[in-house]
Amino acid sequence: MTPRNVAVIQARMGSQRFPGKMLTRLGGIPLLEWVVRRLLRATTLTQVVLATSERAGDDALAELAASLGIAVFRGSEADVLGRFVGAARMAGADNVVRICADNPFIDPAEVDRLVRHFADSRCDYACNHQDRLGSNYADGFGAEMLSAALLEKISVKAVEPRHREHATLYLWDHAGEYKLTAVAAPAELAFPELRFDVDTPSDLAKLEALVSAGVSIETPAHEIVRIAREIRRVAGADFPKDASDELDAYLQRLFPLCRSITGNPNRETLRVLQEIVPLVIHEVPSGTAVYDWTIPDEWNICDAWIADASGRRIVDFRASNLHVVSYSEPVNLVMDWAELRPRLHRHPELADAIPYRTSYYKRDWGFCVTHAQFAELEQLGGPFTVVIDSELKPGSLSYGEYLVPGVSPREILLSCYICHPSMANDSLSGVLLTAFLARHIAGLENRHWSYRIVFVPETIGAIACCARNEEAMKQIDLGLVITTVGGPGRFGYKQSFDPAHPINGMIEDVLSDTGAEFITYPFDIHGSDERQYSSQGFRINTATICRDRYYEYPYYHSSLDDLSFVTAKQVAETLEVYVRLVGRLEARRIYRNRIPHCEVMLSRHGLYPATGGAQRPELGGRSELDLILWLLFLCDGKLDIDHIAARLQVPSGELVPIADRLADKGVLELV
Ligand code: ZN
Repeated sequence: MTPRNVAVIQARMGSQRFPGKMLTRLGGIPLLEWVVRRLLRATTLTQVVLATSERAGDDALAELAASLGIAVFRGSEADVLGRFVGAARMAGADNVVRICADNPFIDPAEVDRLVRHFADSRCDYACNHQDRLGSNYADGFGAEMLSAALLEKISVKAVEPRHREHATLYLWDHAGEYKLTAVAAPAELAFPELRFDVDTPSDLAKLEALVSAGVSIETPAHEIVRIAREIRRVAGADFPKDASDELDAYLQRLFPLCRSITGNPNRETLRVLQEIVPLVIHEVPSGTAVYDWTIPDEWNICDAWIADASGRRIVDFRASNLHVVSYSEPVNLVMDWAELRPRLHRHPELADAIPYRTSYYKRDWGFCVTHAQFAELEQLGGPFTVVIDSELKPGSLSYGEYLVPGVSPREILLSCYICHPSMANDSLSGVLLTAFLARHIAGLENRHWSYRIVFVPETIGAIACCARNEEAMKQIDLGLVITTVGGPGRFGYKQSFDPAHPINGMIEDVLSDTGAEFITYPFDIHGSDERQYSSQGFRINTATICRDRYYEYPYYHSSLDDLSFVTAKQVAETLEVYVRLVGRLEARRIYRNRIPHCEVMLSRHGLYPATGGAQRPELGGRSELDLILWLLFLCDGKLDIDHIAARLQVPSGELVPIADRLADKGVLELV
């Protein structure tokens, strides 16, 4: 005889996190209706029953279920397990399939798969609703199953409130006594990082996006997973697995642009980056005072060359934009070797390299050449036609800014500089890594911190950005300047100005995790924009993770810092380190004592043992009461839990639940 396999949907309107959830509409259809209609297509179920409470608030659920043609069992609100047993008895079940009503995408084929597995495996309990026992299932397509006889048994044994409230928890808490199994996920559903359950309104918003992308009551689970993965891919959440190809395409596109501290190629660069993240392009007009500096005139260049008497170009801007000193004023002259020579710059060591030179704040002009070009010009002796078709006039300085809000308004600063022309490691690698990292951050679920991500011309752009956001940036505690991240060499990191700041330890941990040796550079006032962000007015602890850092590699500031030295794969490897660091940062928790003046009256908040007087500090001071007192003493909104744990010599894992309890009581708050 075929057993009666009865699916019991547990649902009620009262949800603390999401009141009225079950009748909330997804794609215009109440969540409960999604569950029932999808479930009714399963072929192995004898009956589907809704188990809900007797409260009047749940009448609407019962009516909807009845209108969809399923039976309804109503029982005690608090005793979920009791309701479950009652529903099973009412339906005369042999086996019970527990359906969580939070799963609107419950899949009939996966429920059938569970029922068959249960019949074949002679287990006490089977499940495929989540990634359990290594099943690897995406969360939200399956269910849990046990025999009605076992359900009756645990209903007698389970007396603790939590075991009455969570119907199958008793089995998991006594796992050794029962044979618990999980169905292994089929490959197309083996994405445990994907969740389709609805706990909160923001979960519902995610599912709404899937419905907008085509998911309906008929859509099978594997198709839902495919659509979800596509949305995550576009949002960057699957990053950085397959980043190299995409990074390579952007490296090729952006490398040729003749960027400087101002000019159209900078705007063009920022516009290309907008394909990756929706950054905002700001313009600061020439002549604007920013602290001790003034935004210079805007520089743009069309062409430049040095030609011999026959018009042949010996040095040609079109071959490399490094040939012209950045910010060269326009010239159109005929001159001989003696006049030309002081205008030429060669690389001191590398004969084949074109060096990189700038003259931003002194009106000047010049050419950068290889040793061979220099020798040829010297030998020819002139006359030479020397042309720089550039323009220097009032305009503006462009920079990009992307603000990614998190649960906490407290910001983390990420900064890169966009002012270098065709050089790959110095500047471009950092710019692209920053954009890809920004996309990763924007795709993070439940992001804790807010992020201020800026793409600025070095020095003057960073100063302008600080001046324009002074108040907000004064609140920032830590930042990263991202540059020289694409070379083939070892990882290194430059410490922030306070070596004891947690950012440094976190970077060391992340670099140690790579298993390779890395170089530590102590803070130094030279370098990049960390010296703006760390200046007295801001004092942001700003560090840098790099690979072939500026100053250190032979091709630095030359034409040999190109796309044969830097590869997309190398950039992607460094990106992965930054992604891990963001993971560490996101796990960082900082609490603030809301009663900072004098000591908290613990009993008033239900935090003190009932009888006072006899309490003596325990040896070593590590009782829960001691930890509460230490947390209240140390949680100042600046020290993080890891730091406090290290100081108290207890594992952070021991402190976090206590801190959370203090936060529940309103004594601490998470910043
Ligand atoms: Zn540089």
